[in-house]
Formats: sequence, C-alpha cells, structure tokens
Amino acid sequence: MAEVSERRPGFGAAVLGALASAARGLEAFSFPQRCAGCGVPADPDSLLCPECLASIPRLSMPLCVRCLEREREPVGCLRHPGFTVWPAWVYEERAALVVEALKFRERPGLAQRLGAELGRVVPAEPAPDLVLEVPLHPSRHRERGYNQAALLADALSSQVAVPRLEGALERVRPTRPQVRLGSGSRRSNVAGAFRARRPGWLEGRKVLIVDDVMTTGATLHACLEVLAACGARAAGVVLAWAQ
Ligand SMILES: [Zn+2]
Ligand SMILES: [Zn+2]
Repeated sequence: MAEVSERRPGFGAAVLGALASAARGLEAFSFPQRCAGCGVPADPDSLLCPECLASIPRLSMPLCVRCLEREREPVGCLRHPGFTVWPAWVYEERAALVVEALKFRERPGLAQRLGAELGRVVPAEPAPDLVLEVPLHPSRHRERGYNQAALLADALSSQVAVPRLEGALERVRPTRPQVRLGSGSRRSNVAGAFRARRPGWLEGRKVLIVDDVMTTGATLHACLEVLAACGARAAGVVLAWAQ
C-alpha cells in the first residue's frame, strides 16, 4: 500500500500528462486542414496553401533600423552598417495569420516550415556563424510557455546550417507589448531592456538575430546595440515588417 501511495503523485502527473497530450492531439486535429487564407485543403503544418504563401509580398532588401526607429528612410542607408535588418515578408493579412498562429498557438511544425522564408533573405557575405533569438522576459516566457522568435531562430539555424546559441541575450526587465505604444514610447520601452548573458561568447562572431515581426525597429535596434557593444558583427532577420 505504501508503495501505491508513494506512486500516486507520479500516477497523477502521468494522467495529467496524458490529458495534456490528448488535448494537444485534439488541438492538432482541430487545426484547419484547410488553408487559413482561402479555404482550399492544405497541410496543417503550413497553415496556408502554397498559393497563399507565395502571394505574401516578399522583401529582398535590408532596412536600417537605426534610421527606421528615428523615422528616417530605412532603405539604402550606408551610414549604420551594424543596424541592418532583413525582413522576409511585408506584414499583411496572410502574414498576420501565420504570425498569430506562431505567437499564440505553439506551432513548431509551422516555424520549421518558415526556415526557408528566413533563409532566403540571409546575405551570403559576411557568412554568419551564430544564430540568436530576440529574448522574451522570463515572466512572459512562463506565461506563453515558449518564445516564437526562438522557434524561428531554430528553423533558420537548420536552414542555413549555422549553429544557434540559445539564451545569448536576455531581457533584463519586462517591457510593455510594443504594439500598443507610439514610436517614441517604443524606444524608451526597450531602452536598456537587453543584455548579453556572456559578452565573451559573442565577441568577434558574425551573428544573425531573429524576431517574428518588426514595426518601428526599436526592439531589433536595442538588441543590435548590445551585440555591437560585445564586439559582434550582427544583422537582424525578421519574418515580417509591419510598415
Ligand atoms: Zn490558400
Ligand atoms: Zn541608417
């Protein structure tokens, strides 16, 4: 009997685990087997059918986030080489469906499919040697259970066969969701919010830092400043730019 009661918490945890996994199974089952954009049958891991995916406007030019976050023309800047960000897509209706699915319903399968979209914009020179994610604050990470930027960083790392260093940057204070703020407040919201866990790990490295959506560029700008201060040569890669 003693043995049974000792095992009880483990048994309870196993039941909970099984229920959680059944719920995940149901969730996967209830995900649209149809394209979220146009309704034709589609692979649930892709969310969109190939036509809808291909119809998202692509960008193949870098933006300068130092200029972007100061509301200057971000295209064609040659003055701030440490602040280049490569967006794969223009954020519009179909891109939003993908980003929402990635952000609010964990979709590692979906993230893996996006590696090719991110890999497409990565410049050949300088060849990167490290992929990082824009970190979430630990409190937000706990709340959501995962960091969508890390899922994308993982997908990019596999796509371009460059190692990923998880947790290289940390968000040292919680920030408000940027989406609710004006551009001036976005800058002050993230100022000093990021820090390198071990600056020595980044010194001299050619780094790509990945995020899902960029709007004013304030978050990427803050991260790139930290990376430059560590002696890294860094550029950003984002799935979508919300102009
Ligand atoms: Zn479609
Ligand atoms: Zn610039």
